[in-house]
Order: sequence, then C-alpha cells, then structure tokens
Amino acid sequence: MASVGERKIVAARMRKEAELNARERIYEAMLKALEEVFLQNLGHPPATPLLAGRPDDYEEAVATRVLEVACETIGATGGCYFSFDDDTSMLTLLSVVGLLRDAMMPSGERLRVPAGEAGGDLGLSAASKRSMHFRSLDTYPDWIPASSKLRSAYLVPLCHGGRLLGVYAVGSDVEGWFTPERRVLADALVSYTAVAVENARLFAQAQRASERLSAVQRQLLHAQKMEAIGQLAGGLAHDLNNQLLVIRGCIELCYREPSCDSSMQSLIDQARKASDRAANLTRKMLLFSRKQPQNKTMLDLNSSVREIYRMLSRLMGEDVRTNLDLSADLWPVNADPTNIDQVITNLVINARDAMPSGGIITISTGNVVIDEASPGESIEARTGRFVRLSVSDTGTGIPDDVIPRLFEPFFTTKETGTGLGLSVTYGIVTAHDGWINVKSEVAKGSTFEVFLPAAPGAVSEGPAEPARPEPSAARGAGQRILLVEDEPGVIALAERVLAEHGYVVFPCRTIGEAFRVYDREGGKFDLVLSDVVLPDGRGPSLVAELRKSSPSLAVLLVSGYGNAAGRVDGAERGPVPFLQKPYGMRELLDKVAEVLMAAGGKASQQAVAGMTLCAAN
Ligand code: ADP
Repeated sequence: MASVGERKIVAARMRKEAELNARERIYEAMLKALEEVFLQNLGHPPATPLLAGRPDDYEEAVATRVLEVACETIGATGGCYFSFDDDTSMLTLLSVVGLLRDAMMPSGERLRVPAGEAGGDLGLSAASKRSMHFRSLDTYPDWIPASSKLRSAYLVPLCHGGRLLGVYAVGSDVEGWFTPERRVLADALVSYTAVAVENARLFAQAQRASERLSAVQRQLLHAQKMEAIGQLAGGLAHDLNNQLLVIRGCIELCYREPSCDSSMQSLIDQARKASDRAANLTRKMLLFSRKQPQNKTMLDLNSSVREIYRMLSRLMGEDVRTNLDLSADLWPVNADPTNIDQVITNLVINARDAMPSGGIITISTGNVVIDEASPGESIEARTGRFVRLSVSDTGTGIPDDVIPRLFEPFFTTKETGTGLGLSVTYGIVTAHDGWINVKSEVAKGSTFEVFLPAAPGAVSEGPAEPARPEPSAARGAGQRILLVEDEPGVIALAERVLAEHGYVVFPCRTIGEAFRVYDREGGKFDLVLSDVVLPDGRGPSLVAELRKSSPSLAVLLVSGYGNAAGRVDGAERGPVPFLQKPYGMRELLDKVAEVLMAAGGKASQQAVAGMTLCAAN
C-alpha cells in the first residue's frame, strides 16, 4: 500500500502529465490556425478550415479548442470564453462549449459585459485580474443563466505580458468540483491559453494586413491600367480633334458656296451630323483621359441632382420609381457643374438600364468625414471631409468578373452600349480628386458611390456669372493676328475664315517662325492666337516671352487638351482665354472678338481711327 507521500507524488505526476498533454493540444490548435493563415495567404485555403476563414474568427476558433481541452483536462462539463477589448473595456462572449452552449448563446447573440464593478463577478475578475471560485452556485452569477444545470464554476482571467486578453470560465454540474488541485491545473493552463489567444490575434492582424496589401496591389494595377488607357485615349482624341476641326470648317465653308444646291446641302448636313457625333465621342474620350478643361465653381450637389432628376424622370419608364434622399445640410464641392451633371446622368441611366422590368432607383447625398478611426471602405479613401453621391438600383446587379472592367473605356455588356459612361464618370471623378465605390449583388442590385472632397466655405449658388461680352464682334476691323498652328489643315482654314472676317492674319507653323514674324512686324499685333503644343515648344512659353516686351498683348490659346496645359508661364494676369478643339468657325470668330474686346475694347493698332470692334450682327 502506497504511503501518503507516495500518493501525493503520483498525484502530482499525473497532474503534470495532464498539464503537458493539455499544453500540447492547445499549441496544436494554435499551430493549426497559423498554418491556415499561411495557406490562405498563399492562395490555398485549407480543406477543413477552422471556421469560415474570416480573420476575426481565429480568436474564437482557438479559444473554443482551448476550452474543449481545458474542460476535458479538468473534467469540467462546460466552459465559456470572454474576449476583452482594450478600446471599449468590454468583455464579449466569444465561445461556449458543453453545458453552457444552449443556455448562453441561444440565438448566436454575443453577450457583452463591461470590465469592472458594473460587469458583476465577471467584470470584477477581469478588472482585478484575479481568479474567482464559486464552490456552489446556489445564487447564480449574473453571466450564467438561471436555467443552467451548473452547480460550481471557476473564473480565470487571461493575461499576456501583464495585459488582459479575456476571461475564461469552466463550470461543472457537481457542487464543489473545482478542488484546489483542479484549480491549480486550471491556473496552469492559463499561460498556454494566453499564448494561443495572443497568437490568434496576431494571426488575425497578419491576415487582415495581407488582405489589405493584396487589395492595394490590385488597386495599383487597376490605376496603372486606367492611366495607360487614358493616355492612349487622350492622344487619339487630340489627333482626331485636329482632323475634325478641318472637316467641320470645310463643311461650314461648303454651306456658303453659291453652287451648293439643296441636294448637296442634304449631303453636307449628314456629314455635319456625323462630325458632330464624332466630336462628341472625342469629347468623352478626353473626359476619360482627364484632359478636358474644368470650370470649377462652388457647387451644391443637391441642386445638380434635383435638376437632373427633373430632366431624367421623363426618360425613366413607367415601372421605374425614383427616390431622392438628399442631405439637408450638404457641404458644397468645388466642381465643374457640367461634368457633375454628366456623372449623375451616367449613373442614373445605367441604373435604369439595369432594371428592364422596373424597380427603384435611389439617389442620395450625404456628408462623410473620413479619419483614422473610420477609414472608409475603399482603398482610395483618404482622410478628410467629403460629400457622397450615391445611386442605387434594384436591378440585375453586376457579376464579380465584370466589376474590375466596369471603368474601362468601351467596355459594355449592352447591345447598343458605347461603354463610355462609366469611364467618363471615372475620369471626371478622379480629376476632381474623388473616387468611386461599387457595391453589387447579382439579382439584387447595385450601388455606385461617388466621393468628392468638400469645399471649405458655405454653399453658394456659385459666383454670379460675369456678364459675357456679347459676341457682337464676329467681324474684325483690321486687327492683326499672329496665328501659330502646326496642323496644315487647321491653319489654312483659320487663316481663311479670319481673313474673310476682316482680320489681318500672319500664319506661322512654329514658335521660331512666330518670333521672326513678330520682330519683322515690329511687334504690332493685337492678338496672338496660338496652339498649346507646337513642334519646337509650347504656345504658352511663346506668349510669356512676347509679353516681356508687350505686356498688354491679347492672347487666345487653343488646344485639343485641357486649358490646364495652356497656363502661361510666369503670367500673373489670371487665366488665359482658351478655346477647346475642335472648334467651329463661328466659335472661333466669336472668341477672337470676345478676347479683343476684353483686352480693352481698344481699336486695332492698325485699324482705321474711329472704327470700333463691333460690327453689325
Ligand atoms: P454602357 O452603359 O454604354 O454599357 P458604361 O461604361 O456606362 O457603358 O457601363 C459599362 C457596363 O457596366 C454596362 O454595360 C453594364 O454591364 C455595367 N453596369 C454599369 N452600371 C450598372 C448597373 N447599375 N447595374 C448593372 N450593371 C451596370
């Protein structure tokens, strides 16, 4: 018969063995979670994942395994684990095993208890970081439902490096089950459990960081692709614009030919309409490539939405209902109203097209503050104050494989689509330093959210439009124009039309030639009309140079790109008048007259005294 001392030694050895066995199984659970994270990151989700593979589930998965092992080792009939959140000081029930399962998580709802006195025994154990023993549960602690068959319980706070991670509780249906020996064993398991839980949290963090990294990489690739397509589209549109300008100019001249009879006119009409459509396409391509001029002003998005809503409601069809949900105190944005109208129109038309048998479109606006605490859903989101415009539909939704291609120019799934709506929208929004979020579920519908930076200051209807000088000076009075343009078709046409309308034109194909002509004529020019991009330099540099000797020289820049390209180097005279290619001849004449008039309404240096710029309409 073994002596008391020998029995004690055997008991201690058995306890140590149970502890080591439990430790092994706890670490096994932890390593399984680690392996899962690695496999997922390598793109090979494990065949039997711990849980759905969501990073937030790792702590729960590991805690559940640990609880199972602890219950078995100590012979407890149930247990639960509360995770502690430092930021909120709250304990959240994360996993329950055995006896407590049905009682504590009947609807999968997670019990939340504050740490400290307000959290009862559980809160106190967490706050004091001390174990608590309930030998008899005649009166139940508030975190155990009265329906439970538990008769005794033991609460153990889980700490790692002095930091509280959570509290785990083991219970038994036998009163006084947690003898000092079993409590020692439960305490011994704590350090292994804490390591496992802490690692589970780190795995989750690593997993989230890796997901974010791949999202950023995807986003970057997408942005690079869009940039490349944008450059291609912009370059193409620019070259096409020059050709279109010539075609349209020639068409205008044909109209005026005395030999142009009615059958000829109808042919020319068709050519004109086709060239208008082509010009519209190049305009959209430029919008996408972000090279379109922007006339930004303080804008109330709600007004734009109401305006477009009025206009589009007639086009919506009987079965489509449109709801407006506009924020009353919306911040203003600094935006180009025409561009923004285009964005709203494109999104609403797409929403309508996605609902062939009717549905609901909801257009809403709202203010959004993005900060470190609420970083926004999109990778492109950045901190600051933004205005959100959202267009939702209850239509077909967008399949996952289509979403990455949505903003590519010419991508369409519609029979008669152009595939330019969303690419233009993308170009406009990014040119306004904003971004777009797309959320969609097949057969349920889609939501496109546009975020634009809020403009500082109060909402205004926009500055009162300065009274435009009436384009009454469509004819010149001998003013001298230095015309600088390298496209042979464009220069010939512009020279002819301007000369026919009373201007004296000096055509030059390069900047070098322009300097020579300027010097030869003693600088006696009323206007420099120059393209922005020329073979031997930039129109704006030419202008800056000429203005050194003639500061009041009037200037009109033209380009197939945006007017941002036309900023005159070193100029402090405000924006330089600009005309977008392809322009019509009437537009050119009006703009030239307007610039000359704005330059002081002075008569030409060469014009006959007493003649004014204004000719009869
Ligand atoms: P288009 O309307 O000419 O096809 P877009 O660039 O506007 O060109 O749209 C591209 C494609 O994106 C559409 O063909 C369609 O497949 C998809 N799409 C855009 N908006 C929606 C929406 N609200 N619901 C479903 N699909 C959409």
